[in-house]
Order: sequence, then C-alpha cells, then structure tokens
Amino acid sequence: MKLYNIKENDEQVSFGQAVRQGLGRNQGLFFPSELPKFDDIDALLAEDFVSRSGKILSALIGDELPQDQVNSMVDAAFQFPAPIKAVKEGVYALELFHGPTLAFKDFGGRFMAQSLAAVSDGGKITILTATSGDTGAAVAHAFYGMEDINVVILYPKGKISPLQEKLFCTLGKNIHTVAIDGDFDACQALVKQAFDDQALREEIGLNSANSINISRLMAQICYYFEAASQLTKEQRENLVISVPSGNFGNLTAGLLAKALGLPIKRFIAATNANDTVPRYLETGKWEPKPTVATTSNAMDVSQPNNWPRIEELCGVKEWGLETLGKGAVTDEQSAASVKDLNDLGYLCEPHGAIAYRVLQEQLAEDETGLFLCTAHPAKFKEVVDDILDADIELPGPLAKHAAMELLSEDLANDFDALKEVLRRVQ
Ligand SMILES: *Cc1c(COP(=O)(O)O)cnc(C)c1O
Repeated sequence: MKLYNIKENDEQVSFGQAVRQGLGRNQGLFFPSELPKFDDIDALLAEDFVSRSGKILSALIGDELPQDQVNSMVDAAFQFPAPIKAVKEGVYALELFHGPTLAFKDFGGRFMAQSLAAVSDGGKITILTATSGDTGAAVAHAFYGMEDINVVILYPKGKISPLQEKLFCTLGKNIHTVAIDGDFDACQALVKQAFDDQALREEIGLNSANSINISRLMAQICYYFEAASQLTKEQRENLVISVPSGNFGNLTAGLLAKALGLPIKRFIAATNANDTVPRYLETGKWEPKPTVATTSNAMDVSQPNNWPRIEELCGVKEWGLETLGKGAVTDEQSAASVKDLNDLGYLCEPHGAIAYRVLQEQLAEDETGLFLCTAHPAKFKEVVDDILDADIELPGPLAKHAAMELLSEDLANDFDALKEVLRRVQ
C-alpha cells in the first residue's frame, strides 16, 4: 500500500511507515495513492463480517502483509458484532458500541494495535493521543498490557463524562492518563506540538493513535459494508447514512467505503453546536469558532483534523462537496431526539440521536436511512437519565470500572510540562 502526505505530496510512505509515523511532514495526513475497487459487491456482502473485512483490508494493504496475517489481525480486533436495528419504517440504527469500551472507537483502536504490532521494527513505542472521551478508552484498552508500548492519553479536565473517565483512567500498567487544564482542541494542539518536535519524536518513538492514524480509518470502512450486508439489495441501492461527527474520521471511512464500490447514495455530516463543517459547506468559508461544551461531548471539536482527507477524497473522486448533507443540532434538539427515539422503543444517547435528527429532516420517502450509534447509551448515563427521567443500567465493563480509583495526573496546558511527563513514563 502506498500513501502520500496531503500537504507535501512528494512524501510517500508504505502502510507500515504510515502506521508507525501517524502524521507526515508539516503535520500532513497520509492518504492512499490508489484505492482498490470491488466489482462484485453482492458477493462481498454475502460473506461474514470477519472474512469480508479481511478481504477489504488486505486489498487496501496489498502485498505488504500476507492475507493470512491480515485475517488474523481482523479476527483478533473484531470480536464483537455491528448489528443494525429497525427503529421505524425505513430507518435503521447501526450499533457500533458492542466492543469492550462500548463505543465505535473500539474497531479502529483494536485494529491499530494489531497493525502496529505487525509492522513494528522492535524499537520503543510511545503512543500519545488526545481524546474527547471515547478514543482514550478504546486506545487504552486496545494497548493495555502490550509489551514495549507506553500509552499517554491527554484529555480535557472536567470536560468528559465521569464514567468515560473511569473507563480508561483506572487501568494503570503501561497506560498513563493526563487531565489537561484546557479543552479538547488544546489537547490536540499539544499532541501536534509533540509531533513537530523531531528530537522528542525519535527519543521516545512517538506515535499517535488518533483518527489521524490511517489504520484506524481502514478498520472503520468495514462496518459500513457490514451495515449494508444486513439490508436488502433494494434498500441499499437507496441508502442515506447519517454520521454524528467530531473529528470526521467516521465520515471519512464511510466515504472511503463508497470509493471502494459500496453503493451509498449520500452521506449526512451531523454535528452538535460545534458546526465548523456545516457552516463551511453552507458558505464555503472555513471559520472555526471556540469549542463549546455540549451533551454530545465526543463531538466537541471545532477544528476537525480529518477534514483534509474528505476534501482530498472528494477531489480525487470528483464528488462535489455540495453532495454532502449536513446539519448542526443544539442540545435541546438532541434531547428531544433522544425522547423521540425512546417513544419509538429505541434507547439512544445524544451522539446517535443527533445523527437521527438530521436524517429525519432530510430523508426522502423512497430512501432508506441509517444513522450511526457511536456509543452505548449507558456511556452517557448522566445525560440520558436526565433527559428520560430514568435510571438506565450500566453494562458489565462500565460497572466494574466505575468502582475503581482514578489514576490520572493533572497537568497545565503547557508543552514543557508534557515533555517532562513523556520522558518520565519511559
Ligand atoms: C469520537 C466520537 C464521535 C465522533 O467521531 P469522529 O470520527 O471523530 O467524527 C461521535 N460519537 C462518539 C460517541 C464518539 O466517541
């Protein structure tokens, strides 16, 4: 597999390099130079999740890793299903939260851990990642206990749900969690700064597990195929998919699935009040505002770092950006949407409910709608309980971690302080 740096096209890397490096020069994202195309989609969709995903990922990775090895990586990473549930006539929820940390990021995090182990050159590896909530948990659990890999996770202090925090800040061993005095964009900026520091990068074998790592996006392509495989042929020919978006990795993966040949009529980019992209699609002006805190905090991102990949892909495929649906949803509207879904007999948390809301508004009668449910409702228990005046049950993994002690350290929003932490944990 060959990839190039979107910002400096002459930088070309293999899959292994892209996975190890994360980001290219000048903070450029890597993008595949060629995308395979599957002609017989129906045959591919007839396969089971793991074998189909092995084929898709192997076609992308090419001869760098043997098919057998890719199959076992997928087998180890995808040990949980991605079912669709009908919520009403013509509208389905894609449940991506059946993994160990109850959010879709388990797919990408676990496949990235497998990929990194497969392409490692034996040197020291430090994973540095910023999280607005769920990436941290997925990455922490995916890498927990792996030898020679240290994980440092930054998150905005007081801005993620207490349960989310418990899920990944209680592990210990090779997992180090740092509560930064700032918002998610500040955490992300610190990570970028660390990557710009070439000496530090080499000293500690710096790697990011953010959605900037191409292996995570590649894994996410697979559940779009899995969703389509559960619909009838007629339904999937007229399929509209609504994606609750923050950093826009999920939507990038969906568009990549379409580029590989999956027939998806159109996508909708649904955000909360952090609406840089919907406004950009409306006005053509990229004008991020300060990030605001919402009840869908995993999408509290005003400078989505995967957006350049979407522009690149749309450019390569000559898909006009105007073909993307869009919508920004307030906290009040998302609460109303959680209630609507509950009335339909479907328990949903605010991220999924935002995607549902925009889909509802924009779906035509002859279309089939699918909205992505990115987290288990219990992961946002405080918010959901409050909206529905209920007391929803915690699933096993959350209940266990909720009782454990937090091991995070607090840190100022300061690069030198972070450097000190990075060196100390080696
Ligand atoms: C990360 C996350 C999102 C946003 O996904 P992106 O790929 O960053 O757009 C949405 N919902 C939940 C629950 C998340 O954890």
